[in-house]
Amino acid sequence: AQHYLARIEAARELNAFVEVEQERTLEAARAADARIAAGSAGPLTGVPVAHKDVFVTRGWHSTAGSKMLAGYESPFDATVVERLARAGMVTLGKTNMDEFAMGSSNENSAFGPVRNPWDTRAVPGGSSGGSAAAVAARLAPAATATDTGGSIRQPASFSGVTGIKPTYGRVSRYGMIAFASSLDQGGPMAGSAADCALLLNAMAGFDERDSTSLQRPDEDFARHLGKTWGDDAAAGKPLAGLRIGLPNEYFGAGLADDVRAAIDAALAQYEALGATLVPVSLPKTELSIPVYYVIAPAEASSNLSRFDGVRYGHRAAEYRDLLDMYKKSRAEGFGPEVKRRILVGTYVLSHGYYDAYYLQAQKIRRIIAQDFQEAFKVCDVIMGPVAPTVAWDIGAKGDDPVQMYLADIYTLSVSLAGLPGMSVPCGFGGTGGDAKRPVGLQIIGNYFSEARMLQVADAFQ
Ligand code: GLN
Repeated sequence: AQHYLARIEAARELNAFVEVEQERTLEAARAADARIAAGSAGPLTGVPVAHKDVFVTRGWHSTAGSKMLAGYESPFDATVVERLARAGMVTLGKTNMDEFAMGSSNENSAFGPVRNPWDTRAVPGGSSGGSAAAVAARLAPAATATDTGGSIRQPASFSGVTGIKPTYGRVSRYGMIAFASSLDQGGPMAGSAADCALLLNAMAGFDERDSTSLQRPDEDFARHLGKTWGDDAAAGKPLAGLRIGLPNEYFGAGLADDVRAAIDAALAQYEALGATLVPVSLPKTELSIPVYYVIAPAEASSNLSRFDGVRYGHRAAEYRDLLDMYKKSRAEGFGPEVKRRILVGTYVLSHGYYDAYYLQAQKIRRIIAQDFQEAFKVCDVIMGPVAPTVAWDIGAKGDDPVQMYLADIYTLSVSLAGLPGMSVPCGFGGTGGDAKRPVGLQIIGNYFSEARMLQVADAFQ
């Protein structure tokens, strides 16, 4: 813990953390030491972890990257925080993020942008940009994150770390400040798939306090690590029998050459490990952007209605009456991207437009999920890029939200379908020289196949 606290202090210009409390962390570390000395330690006991500031924490502030919640302290811990603490993990601090997890670059944070440790001119990705930058710069060996439309996978890709978004419902949403409840899913980021497996073991599991939590028997997500895919694998071909589906929609004109080259090299390595590549199609990929940017804002507009300045959060200093207090508090507390989503969401849910937008989007969402099931008839996992380009420069897409939305093309449909997806570092792109920027390979599995996906990722690492 001391080692990481010193590194965090030395890397302040990255702006990866919004809160660090050295004494609190060291106290938890001493408690973990005592547990180790007493012989009651588990695999994660004493291992430091950074929490995305979307998870509420007792004794720490929880802001979700918003001025609306600046200074807010939750009276309880999120289930994820509670479970990792129970496993003995030591909280290092809270990481920066896009406001209410809305964004793909971490530039929408009320606490300023995060810098990409590989190239500080670049964004780290978002919305879990602080967690990704913290793991990438070795400010933390592991971090928690959340993914609603790509926010674990895309920052992991841009920052060169491993991250997994589990099947929707695996990880409890209790105490995860809500963005779009039918999509939000927590997961780990770390230096390797093996580390992610251990973290997921501690994070996942049924929680009666989350109505969409899945009731499934406990499983060991590390159980396939280091094993061969099939029983009859030849020497040097541990993945013989693995069928990797390549959706042609993920390799179209929008994919940058440098990203494609890194993905192609990774796929060649998988072939060398014994896997076979199979063409598949996900025909509704393009529609995932309009569908997601109807459904997510719709749910967000509803979820964010709780921030009224009465019960918690920012309250305007002066107002005439109750309505004026609501208006001023929300106008002052929310940033521009959050306001844009509330406007869109309220519009698509309103009488007369509900059928035309929201209902249509829900229907296409179903078709998108069915397309994946068609693909999984002929392959075991799907692979492709996480994002069409490497990390862009801070400010490059700042004034054009649609450009930012389009960059989510390869991650949104997985979220809409509720499938697990991960990002595994597979090389670098960018303009060469010192400006090399990481590329992530996306691995998409069928529902509940996380242990197999982690095996496939681990074999590559
Ligand atoms: N970039 C997407 C958005 O802005 C996804 C964010 C997320 O997964 N939290 O909504």
